[in-house]
Amino acid sequence: MTIKEKPKNKYPYYIEAPLEYKRVDAFLKAFSAILEHSNYKFILDLYTRISMKCARCASGCQIYQTTGKPEDIPCYRSSILLRIYKRHFTLGGWMKSKLTGGSGITEKDIDEMLESYYQCTACRRCTFYCPMGIEHGMITHLGRYILAEIGIVPKALQVSVREQLEGASKNTSAIPVPALIDTLEFLEEEIEETKGIKVKFPIDVEGAEYVFFAPVSDYLLEADTLMGMACVLQTAGISWTIGTGNYDGINYGLFYSDDFLGKIVRNEIDEVRRLKGKKILIGECGHASRTAKNFVPTYNEGSEIPVVNLLELTLKLLEEGKIELDPNVITEKVTYHDPCNYVRSGWIIEQPRKIIKSFIKNFVEMTPNGKYNLCCGGGGGTVSVDEVKDFRMNAAGKKKADQLRATGADIVITPCANCKKQIEEVIEYFDLPMKRMGLHDLILKAIKLK
Ligand code: SF4
Ligand code: SF4
Repeated sequence: MTIKEKPKNKYPYYIEAPLEYKRVDAFLKAFSAILEHSNYKFILDLYTRISMKCARCASGCQIYQTTGKPEDIPCYRSSILLRIYKRHFTLGGWMKSKLTGGSGITEKDIDEMLESYYQCTACRRCTFYCPMGIEHGMITHLGRYILAEIGIVPKALQVSVREQLEGASKNTSAIPVPALIDTLEFLEEEIEETKGIKVKFPIDVEGAEYVFFAPVSDYLLEADTLMGMACVLQTAGISWTIGTGNYDGINYGLFYSDDFLGKIVRNEIDEVRRLKGKKILIGECGHASRTAKNFVPTYNEGSEIPVVNLLELTLKLLEEGKIELDPNVITEKVTYHDPCNYVRSGWIIEQPRKIIKSFIKNFVEMTPNGKYNLCCGGGGGTVSVDEVKDFRMNAAGKKKADQLRATGADIVITPCANCKKQIEEVIEYFDLPMKRMGLHDLILKAIKLK
């Protein structure tokens, strides 16, 4: 198939490699290579057979519920890629096209996919509503992966990953080591000034029990989260360290490329080995926790490295009596936003609630919550793409704003870097009378330091 003319780029925030206009050919080649080197074929074979076309998945998708557009129904979005798969990569599809003359993938399909697969936040909520358990978030991921292989990817994601894998700083926020060390010294002084006790941020300690990976933007934006965490770990006598070889837990490979996802996870493993650490500790971040937990075992060829999320460690220390939180400090009405990557793709649901209820008297759940919580509206990496802010606010974000407003809370806790950014923007955009905080921001206020 030959594409004669390159269509005008409607989406200037995408990078498109100079493929001399043969996007369709390139897409099929990339799709074929991915099928050959992965397990996606098995799942695509299954999904093309079992979809009932009942559209019950629509009732789980907050994007569709807000826009009401048929193209935002989860199964419609997935059907674009499944149709291409069936037509080009199955015998039945190929024979049917010969008999009926049905056409294959077109330029229009590529345009539709590049728009559609970044209008899904890969929140995976629709999966709970599909009687066949079809995973539209995974189809979104695969669609993005193939597009990225032919050079179609939002600039913001590509620039961040390139900085992390190839840049001098080796992290998505391009924070050099001297700036990191300055920041940590500043945080230590800040804790001493406000709490009257010296709390250390250990750097490059060999043989520590935990090697810590924050979403690196926390070092620029979330001082209270980091200070709360350091107070917890020091008070409980935990051996931990930040490594200057790699201190970024962010893994935007999850949002568009299995290849980059694997490389970023391998770099985490290398840093733990360099420091002879025993476990990986991930800070307040959903996708960083999910990628490390799910993929460290895949890429770690050697002895096991357990992956622990900060919330589960803090709960353990609280239950063991190693830290104490004053229940009289936080008096505001507080609610909790469950990050999608914690509750639908992870293992962190009850841990934060147990911590919250131990020291916050005026806690109110939002509806729905837990596994069924609504996405913040910036999931799947879309929060990093400023050019889609209008979509993030007025599609998924609007439902989130209604949900937050209904709680009447003064504070919404969200223990995830991406959710923090999106929810802060939602609060501002919809003028909600609340502020957003990390869980360790509140712990910082309530912890009794020894
Ligand atoms: S609910 Fe499941 S089976 Fe029904 S249309 Fe959606 S994806 Fe297909
Ligand atoms: S993964 Fe989330 S945003 Fe994407 S189709 Fe399903 S419910 Fe909608």
